[in-house]
Amino acid sequence: MIQDCVIIGGGPSGLSGALVLGRARKSVVVIDEGRPRNRVTRETHGFLTRDGIAPGEFRRIAKEQIEAYPSVQFVSDSVVEVAGTDGQFQITTAQGNVYLSKKVLFAVGKRDLPLEINGLADVYGKSAFVCPYCDGWELRDQPLVLIVKGTKALHLAKTITGWSKHFTICTDGPDEMTSEERAELQQHNVPIYDSPIRTIESTDGMVRHVELEDGTIIPCTGIFFAPKLAEGSELPRIVGCEMTEAGTVVVDQFGKTSVPGVYCAGDAATEMYQAIKAASLGAVAGVGINSELLMEDWNRSSLVNN
Ligand SMILES: Cc1cc2nc3c(=O)[nH]c(=O)nc-3n(C[C@H](O)[C@H](O)[C@H](O)COP(=O)(O)OP(=O)(O)OC[C@H]3O[C@@H](n4cnc5c(N)ncnc54)[C@H](O)[C@@H]3O)c2cc1C
Repeated sequence: MIQDCVIIGGGPSGLSGALVLGRARKSVVVIDEGRPRNRVTRETHGFLTRDGIAPGEFRRIAKEQIEAYPSVQFVSDSVVEVAGTDGQFQITTAQGNVYLSKKVLFAVGKRDLPLEINGLADVYGKSAFVCPYCDGWELRDQPLVLIVKGTKALHLAKTITGWSKHFTICTDGPDEMTSEERAELQQHNVPIYDSPIRTIESTDGMVRHVELEDGTIIPCTGIFFAPKLAEGSELPRIVGCEMTEAGTVVVDQFGKTSVPGVYCAGDAATEMYQAIKAASLGAVAGVGINSELLMEDWNRSSLVNN
């Protein structure tokens, strides 16, 4: 049987697309390997009606609600190949199953590259975070360390002041800032250390201090850092989707990529990483896919009672 759409990825964006398409009576298979970027964290904040929910619980509720729409199926598997063209894609999984589909929605997220700083993995998602909008409230007014370099340092410093004015910047090696950026931070009395980080000391995931190679110890109760990200899956690039230098898939306002019949939503298609944004992009892509399917049907056939 040929599906209307195969959705690759079952995070907020893929699930949101599935809900729209299920309600639009389209046949959908959501294939997810269960490796979301936020799996390290205990709570998702800032999603209206779900503030503070555990990421797994968010997905469980979403699936439970989508299961009310019988044309949507969920599969736990990893997609390894997408072949074919608009109207007749073949999606192959690691378990060797092949799904045929008219459209494809990539909702594959982004992926953290390995954390190179000693001790950072122990605190990531517990007391070290990447986005103040997601986790700044929990660390408000606390002594923080920002691990960041280059132009991002000034931007993050300005942003973090909305949550805490007690912070130190560690550039973990040469700072890569312009002299103007460094001077601006110094004018605002922001301490900047460029010695490499030796280790992050913590207890049960809660940071106690950051220790630098030059012996400096910076006590803190929270960290924000600029993660290095990669594409959640190489498949959009492999099928020929236009990408930005940062590895984001280029899409139009309905999530349509440069490849006919292929859509993309969520973190994979934006550089603003928030669950509610991912979900909204997934919903909009669902509308885009449904509209395209309806137009194709309309152009092929006339109404049954004519
Ligand atoms: C530490 C941390 C904390 C965060 N906290 C918050 C927060 O508090 N509030 C907030 O709004 N946002 C938060 N975010 C951001 C939020 O998690 C993301 O914006 C959101 O999850 C993106 O949704 P998505 O559906 O695009 O991708 P994801 O949720 O990453 O889901 C993508 C899914 O696709 C699957 N996949 C990838 N490739 C394949 C393949 N080939 N085959 C099958 N499946 C595949 C992955 O395994 C994954 O399950 C946080 C992120 C991090 C890293």
